[in-house]
Amino acid sequence: MNILVIGAGPAGLMFSSQIKKLNPDWNINIIEKNNQEESVGWGVVLPGRAQQHPANPLSYLSNHESLDAQYLEQFKLTHHNESALTETGVTLCGAERKSMVRELRQLCIGLGINIQYEKPALELNDLECDNYDLVVVSNGINQTSTYYKDALKPTVEFGKNRYMWYGTTQKFDEMNLIFKTKAKGNFVAHCYKYSSNMSTFVVECSEETYRNSGLDEMSTQDAETFIASVFHDELNGHEVISPKGLKWRHFMTLRHEKAYNGNIVLIGDALQSGHFSIGHGTTMAVVGAQLLVKSVHYHAKNINKALADFDKHVMPLMQLFDQHASTSRLWFETVEDRMHLSTPELAKSFATRRDKLPPLPPALGQALEKALSRGAQ
Ligand SMILES: Cc1cc2nc3c(=O)[nH]c(=O)nc-3n(C[C@H](O)[C@H](O)[C@H](O)COP(=O)(O)OP(=O)(O)OC[C@H]3O[C@@H](n4cnc5c(N)ncnc54)[C@H](O)[C@@H]3O)c2cc1C
Repeated sequence: MNILVIGAGPAGLMFSSQIKKLNPDWNINIIEKNNQEESVGWGVVLPGRAQQHPANPLSYLSNHESLDAQYLEQFKLTHHNESALTETGVTLCGAERKSMVRELRQLCIGLGINIQYEKPALELNDLECDNYDLVVVSNGINQTSTYYKDALKPTVEFGKNRYMWYGTTQKFDEMNLIFKTKAKGNFVAHCYKYSSNMSTFVVECSEETYRNSGLDEMSTQDAETFIASVFHDELNGHEVISPKGLKWRHFMTLRHEKAYNGNIVLIGDALQSGHFSIGHGTTMAVVGAQLLVKSVHYHAKNINKALADFDKHVMPLMQLFDQHASTSRLWFETVEDRMHLSTPELAKSFATRRDKLPPLPPALGQALEKALSRGAQ
């Protein structure tokens, strides 16, 4: 089997490593737009403890301890300068994205997979996809992923809020949500530790607040100073740091009605992206990759059958993920209506915002269990 994978992020790397483990003689090539060192973002939150949770990519790394991942078991919501602390009920794992991607790439290389860097796929047509048995598109949230518009029916929706993915040396020992009301509007920070000395610090606000506060005209450095002053009490003198080249933006939700066309299949954010406030994007990338591994491994002689099988299992899950992520995004986009609530009332509203939906974790658990049971379907 000859497979081309476009994009060396968690989705492409998980698919490549796991299918290669099952089929050492298959030929797998990955092409990646960026160079070896470039990786966007700071830390991400993953499910469970490394080596114990199959949706946590660190579970697939023998040297996961070298990543200095941090475990989180409490949730802290701060509003009106007062905090409500609760148990998360499950263990969460904060991990540095850059080192997680680097180690997943090493895992692939160790298995004999070739990764070509600085090789962006611009148009699928230029790649001569017919030369491969299978082409896996795992290039993340990307407007150029709107390949095969007629067959896969992609849609793109931009969230109303602006956000920026900052990092900070302040250590947040819990999953934190901090709400701040300032003269120019309301700001929300989502923050948690992901190494012994770094935390993710994602900040969002409405477009109106973004403009009223002058963030639209500030330099990167002035914006960092401004945001550090908004969250001064919690940052305790620590700075916020922008990732190189990243600007304040609107969250982009990319959806598809179908996951494949011919021998080309989408996984990860390239198939379905979901707002960061539910922290499930990487998990979805792992679950989607494992479902594809199962379908391709068991229907290797008939790729069309394999991809139809994958589509049947992955699409309902992606639609549920989309419902959860979009409901959560909308809660944050309308948060100004709730800023008058007391801290316990706001905490309750946040905790119950997705209660009307069928729960996501059991659906993911069942899908993963099915994907990982290596017996026939
Ligand atoms: C602010 C923010 C916070 C987040 N927090 C979390 C979190 O806490 N937990 C969580 O699970 N998820 C989180 N996510 C989501 C998570 O980062 C993604 O869901 C996850 O990275 C998806 O993996 P992927 O492999 O599909 O895509 P990506 O990680 O985006 O990887 C895609 C790869 O493809 C490459 N590429 C792009 N275009 C091309 C091309 N044309 N040719 C070749 N290569 C290409 C890119 O360089 C990249 O290496 C967050 C996202 C954001 C924006």
